Parts: sequence; C-alpha cells; structure tokens
Amino acid sequence: MNVKFFNDLVEISEKTGEDLHKVILNWEMLDTGYSSEKLIENTSKLLKVMEEEYASKKDKAFKTLVNLTGTNGKKMYNYVQNAFVGEKVFKAATIAVTMAENNASMGRIVACPTAGSSGVMPGVLLVLEEYGIPRDRLVLSLIVAGAIGKIIATRASLSGSEAGCQAEIGSATAMAAGAAVYATYGSAKQVSNAAALSLKSLMGLVCDPVGGFVEVPCVKRNATGATLALLFCDMAKSGVESVIPLDEVIDAMMSVGRSLPESLRETGKGGIAITPTARRLIKGLNDKFKISGD
Ligand code: SF4
Repeated sequence: MNVKFFNDLVEISEKTGEDLHKVILNWEMLDTGYSSEKLIENTSKLLKVMEEEYASKKDKAFKTLVNLTGTNGKKMYNYVQNAFVGEKVFKAATIAVTMAENNASMGRIVACPTAGSSGVMPGVLLVLEEYGIPRDRLVLSLIVAGAIGKIIATRASLSGSEAGCQAEIGSATAMAAGAAVYATYGSAKQVSNAAALSLKSLMGLVCDPVGGFVEVPCVKRNATGATLALLFCDMAKSGVESVIPLDEVIDAMMSVGRSLPESLRETGKGGIAITPTARRLIKGLNDKFKISGD
C-alpha cells in the first residue's frame, strides 16, 4: 500500500466506513509485516513510557546538560490552580515542558516525532487521559498521530537541521492535534483539518537552539505545541476547516524549510541563539563545553 497523502487515508476511511485507525493499521501491517495486535501493543508501550516518565517526574527539578532549563515544569506544576487559561490547557503545557526538560536531562523519552519536540504528544495525551479519555482510545489516537508524522517524514522532513523548528515542533503539534481529535471521537476529516491548522500556524518557525543545546528555546516551544494542539482540536471539531488541505500544507512547510538559511537550521548561528543574552550565556559555558557563540 503506497500511501503518500494523508488524504488517501481519510478518503479510504470515509468511503469504506472503516475507522481511521484501522485504515492506518492496514497500511502499517503491509509496510512492517507486523500484525495489528503487535502494532497496537508496541504503541501501547510508547504511551506507557510517557505515563511512567511523567508520573515519576512531575514535581521534580531536572539537572540538564547546561542548566538553561530544568525547573520550569515544577514551577508550572505548582501554579496550575491559578492558571487563567484553564486547568486542562495549563496542565497540557506543564506536562509538555516537564517532558521536554526530562529530555534535556537525558531522561527516557518517546521521540514523537523528535527528541526536541518530545513533550508535545505526552502533554496532550496525558491530559486527555486525566480528563477521562479511555487509555485504549489514546493508543489508537497515537497510531493516528504516527500516520501524520509518517506522511510528513515521507513528503517533507521532521528534522530541524533540514527544515527548521516548524518540522519538529510544527509536526509534533500537527500530530498531537490530530490525536486529540481522534481521541475525542472526531471524524477523519477533522483529524486532517486539526493537523493542517496546526502546521500552518507554526510555519516558518526557525531552529535556533542556544549553544546548539536542546534547551532554549526548545523546551518552552513544547508548551506552545501542546496548547495549540488542543485549540486546533476544538476548532476542527467545531467545524472550522483548513482551506489548504494537510498534504499541501506539508509540501509548503518543506518548501519554506528549503528557503531557510543555514543559520536558522540548528546551527546555533541565528535567531534566539545569537541574541546578546545567548552570547553571554554561551561565553560562560565556553570553557566547560568548548562551544562557540560566533
Ligand atoms: S529549536 Fe531546533 S533543536 Fe530546538 S526543538 Fe526546535 S527544531 Fe529542535
């Protein structure tokens, strides 16, 4: 089964009446040779990693590689009752930041789709779980998210060094928005719309990690992704559609990525990475890590 367009999966689901996750599992079975039971089991294990990591680290401070982050998740965890944006959204952002700090401290992560963006999916999935979405449904929604990521990887890129942070945080947000729609029993078309709305909104996002370390601005961008994913889930389910279909948005994202100068593609030579404060921080780290702010 040669699937290059997410819309192919949506159309098969609509025409046959088959659930979207089953259409995706059929595709994956042909691609990987695994049974659908095995694929579901493997996906369940990924969700388990997210659950275990967050449960054991949710109120902890992290010691990260260069200590430009590590206490933000804990601060947010202690603030959630005061959040003006509401508990669900703030919790999702909190989980996303905590899991991204876990990544920065070399903790166990699910690179879904990448290490730098590994907080977005748990941010959305674990908050859905906390508010009553059955675990089995979350596993199926993670399968749907995986298909969105696979199409992006096939048609474009998931790499910040290749296409900027839009390819990492943008793709993670598209995957999480699609997963949230599916987890909450939205339609296949709504999954596609939520993913397209997400990726469009983060298009052009540059990759500019301070000192080349996946800490600043990476960790907090995971909060952006989780928050936007929930927003676009609700927008898609309210009936808002993306005028430009997901597959075309993916192609446009890659075209923008190719246009980005090298300085904005994970080299640490542009954007946030060359601000005066970033240069000062890098200078302080220079002796220890032998890195250059030039
Ligand atoms: S800024 Fe670059 S390194 Fe950081 S999360 Fe985005 S793509 Fe990854």
